[in-house]
Amino acid sequence: MGALSWCVAAGWRALVWVTVWLVLVPAPRVAVAQRYFPGGPALPGGDTTLVITLGTGTPVPNPDRSGPATAIVVGRRVFLFDAGAGVMRRVAAAGLPIDGVTAAFITHLHSDHTLGLPDLILTSWVMGRTAPMRVVGPPGLRRMTDHLVAAWSEDTLVRVQGLERGRPGGYRVDAREVTGGVVFDSGGVKVTAIRVPHGEWEYAFAYRVDTPSRSIVISGDTRYSEALERASSGVDVLVHEVYAETRVAPEARPGGELWPRYLREVHTSDVELGRLAAAAQPRVLLLSHVLFMGATEQEVIDGIRRGGFTGRVVIARDIGRY
Ligand SMILES: [Zn+2]
Ligand SMILES: [Zn+2]
Repeated sequence: MGALSWCVAAGWRALVWVTVWLVLVPAPRVAVAQRYFPGGPALPGGDTTLVITLGTGTPVPNPDRSGPATAIVVGRRVFLFDAGAGVMRRVAAAGLPIDGVTAAFITHLHSDHTLGLPDLILTSWVMGRTAPMRVVGPPGLRRMTDHLVAAWSEDTLVRVQGLERGRPGGYRVDAREVTGGVVFDSGGVKVTAIRVPHGEWEYAFAYRVDTPSRSIVISGDTRYSEALERASSGVDVLVHEVYAETRVAPEARPGGELWPRYLREVHTSDVELGRLAAAAQPRVLLLSHVLFMGATEQEVIDGIRRGGFTGRVVIARDIGRY
């Protein structure tokens, strides 16, 4: 056998072996081991899609309701929407990995939706994350995360150089600023950002998430939005903010006379949401970020009914699974 024909034969043998290897040896399902807080509830596994309302609160520091944060779990992947105050405690309590989520999506940069960002970034690093945390959100997000990383630079230096032997780099953020449209599409999960009107914010998003088994829309903060109504048509779950129409009144503080106008121009009333849901017909309407202002849960649900929605309405709780 000449040198050339030997090379050709060896090349074919190598090709056959590579093919056998690719067909027979399955790829690992998860490349990196995920770390959980002990004693948390188990996840269903498989390719089941689960909505977990980690934090259902508002700027009010209600101890029963953490800052806004919703997780959509698809198999072992976790997609986080907003990172309000207390987010990592809720991630741990929900039985989700404490060393990082697959990706986080921010609806807008209001503090109640972003106060948990340093927690999300730094705690997951200390718990073992080594790759930069992927965070998607509106313009201004990168400036915010750059400032956060800078604000804790003494901490990261001490953790890396001191006896903790923290691994350098994991505290970094892969911040991706977007202005709408499809912002994530991988492994059967598609996330679409929908621009919504929210006061003076130039960019505020709702997100629609399509997984192999479910469709979910998360409103973020918004006044009544027709774009959101269209995007929510026939979805399995609509997570929406709301305020109690019956409790709209001026507040006793300087500037408080503008409060009713603020609510009407910046947020969505229960009656308006009832109208939106009657048109969109979600299989379940989950109320989160509820501005009760003294109203009972029943008053808010009655408002939804006055708007015309007769389907299933649930006032979401922290760590609720839907
Ligand atoms: Zn808010
Ligand atoms: Zn807001």
